[in-house]
Amino acid sequence: MNPHTTRRRFPNNTKVVARFKFIDMKYDNIIIGGGLSGLVCGIESARSGRKTAIVSAGQSALHFWSGSFEFLCNEDSRIVIDHPLERAERLDESHPYRKIGVSNVSKLLDRVLPLLREAGIKVNGSLERNHYRLTPFGYSRPAWLTLDEYLSFQSPSELKGKRAAIVNIYSYLDFYPRFLALGLSKLDVECVTASVNVPQLDILRKSTTEMRATNMSRFLTDSAVDDLAREVNRVSSDCDMVIMPAVLGIFDDEPVNRLRRGVDRPVFFVATTPASVPGVRCQLSLRDYFTSLGGTYMPGDTVVGGEISDGRIRKIYTSNFGSIPLIAENYVICTGSFFGHGLIANMDKIYEPVFGLDLNAPDDRTEWYDKNFYASQPYMGYGVVTDEKFRPMKEGKVIENLYATGALLSGFNALKEGSGAGITLATALHAASCITR
Ligand SMILES: Cc1cc2nc3c(=O)[nH]c(=O)nc-3n(C[C@H](O)[C@H](O)[C@H](O)COP(=O)(O)OP(=O)(O)OC[C@H]3O[C@@H](n4cnc5c(N)ncnc54)[C@H](O)[C@@H]3O)c2cc1C
Repeated sequence: MNPHTTRRRFPNNTKVVARFKFIDMKYDNIIIGGGLSGLVCGIESARSGRKTAIVSAGQSALHFWSGSFEFLCNEDSRIVIDHPLERAERLDESHPYRKIGVSNVSKLLDRVLPLLREAGIKVNGSLERNHYRLTPFGYSRPAWLTLDEYLSFQSPSELKGKRAAIVNIYSYLDFYPRFLALGLSKLDVECVTASVNVPQLDILRKSTTEMRATNMSRFLTDSAVDDLAREVNRVSSDCDMVIMPAVLGIFDDEPVNRLRRGVDRPVFFVATTPASVPGVRCQLSLRDYFTSLGGTYMPGDTVVGGEISDGRIRKIYTSNFGSIPLIAENYVICTGSFFGHGLIANMDKIYEPVFGLDLNAPDDRTEWYDKNFYASQPYMGYGVVTDEKFRPMKEGKVIENLYATGALLSGFNALKEGSGAGITLATALHAASCITR
């Protein structure tokens, strides 16, 4: 009997031959990790017609997203970079941008805006020149791409002389109108602050701990948005613009657009403290775009190891599939840094938990950190060591069918440079070009 065929007997004694569709666990490309880099790499692989799977353990940095992607923003915490591509040419040769080549990075990143728009994520900006966004604490911070619905500006003088209404939602605590008003006053913006209420949120207000951005976004849809718009109009009539917390539109941007249509003056959003509603939307939009292209997304599963022989990964294993292996021609590891659990630190060592890949982290734990809390921390620059094609190494030998991307890589300090998403997207697109050749 065909092993994929089972005979089942139903209560009325009729014999039924049921053909079970065994899941075929062979792919062209398997992506390990479903954050920004894994999703973008997976999308490009699936778009090229390759049979692609993404195995994704859990939360990614996107769930904490500021609403802006950074390419190269800071020399250090004080000096801001205006022209990031020019500055990238002077980075160390081991930096991911230099390894790809800055002009190649620029060409690869040309694909980002259209890709995000295809997924329904509307951002704007240019690699030629950074713009600014307003942080939740009222600082102006440079950025490469920012969501269309956010407050961003090319130069701080652009907002001079405007009058803004900073409108919070009554009893929501993760948004700070006074910090924003202070920050905006330094840009010569006159601010009024107000809070508004809509009855649809009363159910959450029974416990203040429920008044979180992601919870509110689930109630702020349809007529609740129209009610909110009416309230916002009431408190902002003598202003040029309205600034609000980014708590609308967790599944798509329709509530954002609806509010903007209902309010009589331009409405802009500012990030709240995490979790980030636009970040969750971005993650879901990329995931849905990937699956719409035929990709297989395996949420809540963790790759726990693999078999490597003759310099190639032959199969990998996950917690959910146990002893059933997943097999592919190429693998891309996009498991993030310490935050995503792509790197683990214990008392003795820092290690990469899936394959035990080589890292640039020293054994001596006292070298991992600077005692000055505000200094740039060495551990932020740790990650996997790769060849020039971003293929990681194990015990000094390159693994030929494995590529590493994003926050897992070594050679940069995303926090110090303000370069997290740029490196993530450039290396994801670079890996995608290698696995779809
Ligand atoms: C909290 C935070 C906020 C940030 N905000 C910004 C920002 O606003 N703008 C910006 O430019 N940069 C930001 N960054 C920098 C950020 O690192 C990059 O922008 C980028 O999102 C990193 O993406 P990634 O896919 O490489 O890693 P991650 O986003 O960390 O994703 C890794 C994914 O892999 C999964 N994973 C881990 N191990 C396994 C396994 N064994 N099997 C299967 N899946 C696994 C994790 O669960 C996670 O989903 C932020 C970083 C952090 C930590």
